[in-house]
Amino acid sequence: MKKKILQYFICVVAAALTAAVVLLSGLMYGLFKNRVMEDLQTYADIFEAVLEAGGGEKIFADMTDDELRITLLRADGYVLYDNVADAEQMENHAERPEIVSAFECGKGGDVRNSHTIGRSTYYYAVRLKDGHVLRLAKRASSLSGLFARTIPLIVLLMGLMMGICFVVVKGLTDRLLKPIRQLTEHLDDMSGVKHYPELEPFMDMIQEQHEEILQSANMRVEFTANVSHELKTPLTSISGYAELIENGMATQEQAKKFAGEIHKSANRLLRLIDDIIRLSQMDAPMPDMVLESVDLAKVAANTLEQLQMSAHKMGVTLQLDAHDAVVDADRRMMEELIYNLCDNAIRYNVHGGSVRVEVRPVRDKVMVCVQDTGIGISAEDQKHVFERFYRVDKSRSKETGGTGLGLAIVKHIAFKHHAALVLESRLGVGTTISVTFDKTAKS
Ligand code: ADP
Repeated sequence: MKKKILQYFICVVAAALTAAVVLLSGLMYGLFKNRVMEDLQTYADIFEAVLEAGGGEKIFADMTDDELRITLLRADGYVLYDNVADAEQMENHAERPEIVSAFECGKGGDVRNSHTIGRSTYYYAVRLKDGHVLRLAKRASSLSGLFARTIPLIVLLMGLMMGICFVVVKGLTDRLLKPIRQLTEHLDDMSGVKHYPELEPFMDMIQEQHEEILQSANMRVEFTANVSHELKTPLTSISGYAELIENGMATQEQAKKFAGEIHKSANRLLRLIDDIIRLSQMDAPMPDMVLESVDLAKVAANTLEQLQMSAHKMGVTLQLDAHDAVVDADRRMMEELIYNLCDNAIRYNVHGGSVRVEVRPVRDKVMVCVQDTGIGISAEDQKHVFERFYRVDKSRSKETGGTGLGLAIVKHIAFKHHAALVLESRLGVGTTISVTFDKTAKS
């Protein structure tokens, strides 16, 4: 930013300076030219008076200053006298512009570039009373000469201005950037920091993102700690039982039982790892979600079929009330969502209870509703059940193969599909969870 402003300042100053120099040089040259011509005119008046007083042109012979050249001409342009060159050798001057106008109007002037670079010759001619013409010539600076002489001054001025620019821009950008720098140093609490009102939307956005980053970092730390803890429990049990068998401390009967425990813990580990992998896949910035037309009625029917055995074991009856309900969704995620909800409805049910799954279109949406007559969730726990690893009844969850991640996955899938997720539950009465999808996917 500093570099940009500096470049901008230098360009503006350079352009302004060049324009000023060009304009001033032109103006100065005009004045200078007038001045030289006026001087020549004064000389001419004096010399004319001298000649008329009978001084004779020889009087100019001593004026050998080559800056001022005095020439006397006849009406036909023939040179009668010249104080610098030999008059005899000089060509006819009748065609010279100043001579032509002197004969026509009584006086005339002209400026012609000399061979010397940066100099011009200024001519002034006046017709005398005897019909001759007196011409005076003087060499002086031309426009380019005048301009060339100002170049060192321009360079000096440019250098000076650039120095000033540098100091001003540095001070200016430091002052401009100070509030922004202070804001970045106080990302946690920007309220006390002086800032520009124009920055407010930007600040709000940054603060929001900052908070999100902090929150997600905290969640990650917490999640990692929970994962380690969750993995440790079945592994400790596996290791313990295996050690007992290895040391020959278990009877054959016990060894069989311990192997069963090892098997159970290993399965628990596998389920945990599966769920953790699923969550982290869904957490990825670009999860590979494949949207297609999915009939949720069919998905629900398949899921209930899969769960029939475990429902039977728990003494729970399953009911399905499904109407054609096609949505744009990721098929695997839909299967996981409906499975997790139905699985919970069976596992947290009571013997002789029931689970009712309803799938139906509601206007331009599709609703999936899983209702059970189970143990229910207290109002306080309802706030937390969608958190990772949150379990109300830990032993029941573990006993029935829960990982504490099922509802977290459900929430994630609903979020990814912009679906509304609603939980209603009463302790001892039952739980209803409904998810409402748009039929066509929102981009
Ligand atoms: P889990 O694998 O332990 O079942 P979930 O994330 O699926 O984990 O559910 C979180 C917790 O919410 C469960 O441990 C359970 O206590 C409670 N829960 C979930 N579904 C139900 C339900 N249908 N009825 C009663 N409690 C439930």
